[in-house]
Amino acid sequence: MIDITDRKIAEEEIIRQAGLITSLLDSIPDIVFFKDINGVYLGCNPPFTEFIGKPKNEIIGKTDYDLVDKITADAFKYDDIKTIEERGIRHIEELITYPDGMQVLCDTLKTPYRGSDGSLIGVLGISRDITERKKNEEELVKAKNEAEKANLAKSEFLSRMSHELRTPMNSILGFAQLMEMGELVPAHRKGVNHILKSGKHLLDLINEVLDISRIEAGRISLSMEPVRLSTVITEMFDIVQTQVSSRNQTIKLIDSPSNQLFVLADNQRLKQVLLNLINNAVKYNHEGGYINIKTELCQPDSNEKPKIRISVLDNGIGIKPEEIHKLFLPFERIGAERTETEGTGLGLNVVKKLMEAMEGRVGVSSIPGEGSTFWIELEHVEYQKFLDESALSAPKRGTAEVLKSGTILYFEDNVSNIELVDGIIENYRPHIQLITSVSGINAVNLAKDSKPDLILLDLDLPEIHGSDVFINLQADPETFSIPVVIISADAMTHQIKKMLKAGVKDYLTKPIEIAVFLKMVDKWIEKS
Ligand code: ADP
Repeated sequence: MIDITDRKIAEEEIIRQAGLITSLLDSIPDIVFFKDINGVYLGCNPPFTEFIGKPKNEIIGKTDYDLVDKITADAFKYDDIKTIEERGIRHIEELITYPDGMQVLCDTLKTPYRGSDGSLIGVLGISRDITERKKNEEELVKAKNEAEKANLAKSEFLSRMSHELRTPMNSILGFAQLMEMGELVPAHRKGVNHILKSGKHLLDLINEVLDISRIEAGRISLSMEPVRLSTVITEMFDIVQTQVSSRNQTIKLIDSPSNQLFVLADNQRLKQVLLNLINNAVKYNHEGGYINIKTELCQPDSNEKPKIRISVLDNGIGIKPEEIHKLFLPFERIGAERTETEGTGLGLNVVKKLMEAMEGRVGVSSIPGEGSTFWIELEHVEYQKFLDESALSAPKRGTAEVLKSGTILYFEDNVSNIELVDGIIENYRPHIQLITSVSGINAVNLAKDSKPDLILLDLDLPEIHGSDVFINLQADPETFSIPVVIISADAMTHQIKKMLKAGVKDYLTKPIEIAVFLKMVDKWIEKS
């Protein structure tokens, strides 16, 4: 008699394992199937039977041609053959249709599978329904595109708004400057000073509001130029003096070299940064505390450009070392929100962004209870050209400047801007002839006839954009060499850069400063 106990145990084990594998397969929520190399189904799980719409026993032993339409069967067969040929995992995104017509997007993995001896048995497939995931992804992409579109619309709106607000400001500030420079009875002078002060304040506000939005949109327009530090610091002292005195504090410049230090910066933004740091030094300080400003030339590393460091030192409350890293994060007030000191927690974040935009750096060192030093670093520049004091004040009638003669051709459609420039020339350069045109269409002929020494060009002209007027002037050999200066309310950096690159000699943004305008005029009329 043969003992078959061992064989029986082995067979039972195989059956047990097969049962386990089947129940494992059945509990997988994804579609699972396997076929032999001829495409005959050897096994599948319930989600697959649902997809085919037939019970398992009607699937096993059949091919796709017995179960689905010919086009689908052809596609399945193509993938099976590819999987076998390439002998690797094949990843397919496919739209499958259930017997009730429901369509589902599936992420299908097909892989060849082998027996224990290594020989190829067939293809194993796993399909996952990714309809929902795909829908979410598509919605995300759509939302992102919409957000980008809205952002673009916001930037365009900002640029438009900046333009619209700057144009009337040009008249307000321009005429007020003209009046200030003329003869006035004391009461009127006082009134004009108020207009100028409020107008400048309004202009600062316009700029700041636009700045915040631009920074948020990742678009900051900068006008990088050599800025004399002493001028900026004196201006800062004037602005904060009342605030400092009201808290019995003192502010002064210490250990700083000559006042001839220039940094490469956007004047307005540099002031914004310094004002922010000084305001904080005042706010987070005691009654009677001090604020010291220090400027120093940094020794550059071998291939670095020379830098200037401006430090704002205070003997205020200081900052704990573990809080320092949070300082420049938006809305982070590191406990100040529980005090009566007002603030938004945005100031230092704006400072950091502006410094980065100006290719500078910002940093801090502090000892709790003793005080803080916030510093910024900017590129040091040698600069003489425009800023000698005599040039800053507009020359009056009777001085040598007044005798300069020549012709300026001005393309501008806004009547008050024309009258403003007319008024400036009439008062301060009476020997210069000003010819104006509200249209740029005939610019080349007009320039040929009047042979101006200088062309002033607005960009936002009615029938033809100023940049095209410039192209036309450049294209004609008779007008090609006449210097062109843009006077525009478009203060966006990319526009300024574009026009300067195209070859215009200068770009003044509205509202114009009369002294700067006259210097520009003198420069080109002199040269001609
Ligand atoms: P705000 O002053 O509006 O709160 P800031 O971004 O300018 O926002 O500053 C963030 C935080 O950093 C402040 O709330 C304050 O706690 C701290 N801080 C800034 N400057 C100083 C300073 N000079 N001394 C002590 N703490 C300061």
